[in-house]
Amino acid sequence: MLGINIGIDLGTTSIVVYVEGRGIVLAEPSVAAYDVKSGRLIAVGKKAYEMVGKTPDSIRVVKPMKNGVVSDFTATRHILRYFLQKICKNMVFKPNIVVCVPSTVTNLEKRTILDLITSSGAGKACLIEEPLAAALGAGLESNRPVGTMVVDIGGGTTDIAVMTMGSISVSRSIKSAGNAFDEAIMRQIRRERDVIIGERTAENIKLRIGCAYLREVELGLTVKGKHFITGMPVSIEVTSTQVYLAMRPHLEAIAEGVRSVLELTPPELASDISTTGIYLTGGGALLEGIDAMIQERTGVRTYVAQDPLNCVALGTGVALEDMDILTDNGGVFKTRDEIGGLNFNSGIFE
Ligand code: ADP
Ligand code: MG
Repeated sequence: MLGINIGIDLGTTSIVVYVEGRGIVLAEPSVAAYDVKSGRLIAVGKKAYEMVGKTPDSIRVVKPMKNGVVSDFTATRHILRYFLQKICKNMVFKPNIVVCVPSTVTNLEKRTILDLITSSGAGKACLIEEPLAAALGAGLESNRPVGTMVVDIGGGTTDIAVMTMGSISVSRSIKSAGNAFDEAIMRQIRRERDVIIGERTAENIKLRIGCAYLREVELGLTVKGKHFITGMPVSIEVTSTQVYLAMRPHLEAIAEGVRSVLELTPPELASDISTTGIYLTGGGALLEGIDAMIQERTGVRTYVAQDPLNCVALGTGVALEDMDILTDNGGVFKTRDEIGGLNFNSGIFE
């Protein structure tokens, strides 16, 4: 195939791009900012993320991916185009792109993503199931007849999958993930302290003092918000215990989700997993103690993958280097004509 090979993890929170021979070249928030009046694109990625919660009425910030699927076509295409142009600026041939999709997407959603990729600058495009990419990125040999389990805790969803011979045997996707943690922290602070905080502050609290178990030595963090009744800016101290209690129902839901997938796993595969262990990927895998929590609830050794935030994109890289992995899983590179896609320039999606 002519052109370079690129792997993309198009996540709800961030987009991570892998280029064959170079590795991860880009990891930025999946966010775009627009001028409301003219509809003009103002910023993409990190720059747009910095505007979240701080924009005047004249600027609209969009997060176009919801729960792993495209909810705003135009904005997703703007983000992809912008980054692809940056990566491929001096190239003669268009790149071949493999992109991850959650294992639960419908055929129409798959076609939409292929369509988006080929209308954003790819010569040929191909899909790979996200849990498979996560497993490859975590260094698991998912092509052998051995059961492996990956739990990817992202922004919008936690995706739990058991794989064998490169295919998914059992999988489940639940909404308890990074964003749900942040929202729970916001709600708790509003209820208990009458203070409203922004989503970025809530995320920061989670990153700094969040934890999947009750810390023996309580940590505190001073944060700024707005008093619910007076509307005045205030500073309050938040404790790790409060944060843990706010997040606990979602932590329980994740543990229950993992247990329910294990319950549905065929016995031979389940016995493999009891030896190989459970691997955690995605940003949520970095939450302190989440591996210990899942291990305790399932009785199965649980590991945080190396570099969990980039795991899925690194897995696309492994698949690009060994194309058999893609073809074995029904992944075929197709051009825009071969996809026979929807016509994005028809105005329907603009
Ligand atoms: P997606 O695949 O949905 O784009 P990611 O795998 O990039 O998501 O993970 C993003 C989520 O991980 C966010 O909710 C973010 O707050 C969370 N996250 C990132 N780092 C940490 C950390 N150190 N502790 C807890 N959560 C984290
Ligand atoms: Mg992800």
